[in-house]
Amino acid sequence: MNIILLGPPGAGKGTQARHLVETRGMVQLSTGDMLRAAKDSGSEMGKVVADVMARGALVTDEIVIGLIREQLNTVNAKGFIFDGFPRTLAQADALTELLKNEGESLDAVVEMEVDDEALVARITARSTCGGCGEVYNDNTKPEPVDGKCSNCGEAGKFQRRADDNEESLKTRLMEYYKKTSPLIGYYYAKEMLTRIDGLGAIEKVQGDIAAVLDK
Ligand code: AMP
Repeated sequence: MNIILLGPPGAGKGTQARHLVETRGMVQLSTGDMLRAAKDSGSEMGKVVADVMARGALVTDEIVIGLIREQLNTVNAKGFIFDGFPRTLAQADALTELLKNEGESLDAVVEMEVDDEALVARITARSTCGGCGEVYNDNTKPEPVDGKCSNCGEAGKFQRRADDNEESLKTRLMEYYKKTSPLIGYYYAKEMLTRIDGLGAIEKVQGDIAAVLDK
């Protein structure tokens, strides 16, 4: 089963994708994670995208479609979770084609709805474990005082994303509304869209997504 988690930055896509990886053995394809890895490795492509990402703008369709193309031939019986991809209509069309070439298709699109004020509050309070990707929040789930990640136990790995600041966030939200939100109508028309409330407790959201997958 192949699904897209669709939603603005801070909607909780990464957290939910990781849960599906752990519980269902699905494979998470996060273009944001791939781009950050390229940036950290200092590759040519990483250098090209670094500035764009820091500003909160979208990198080109060509680059992200190329990243997804490279991953789709991974042997994987449980399906892919597309997290942060597609973000434009051109990427959505490319995804349909890429899956078709692999003899696959998309089964569901889950839109995680969260209001803008909650997004800003979430993102500016967010930190992540660099070891395993566990997400923390200064208000609702602070980093453990012993400095060790509660999920993987690694010490001193907490990081804040360079683009998790109010300035970049404004651009990221604008990009979402201008370029990504048309995908809601696109997948609705294809009868693939299910909307869920992304603001509930993590377990509630997990249950809502499971209901879509098990339908
Ligand atoms: P994310 O981790 O999904 O919030 O992505 C972080 C940043 O990477 C975004 O703000 C964009 O600059 C870039 N990015 C990630 N995925 C895409 C995509 N599908 N299309 C264009 N840019 C992307």
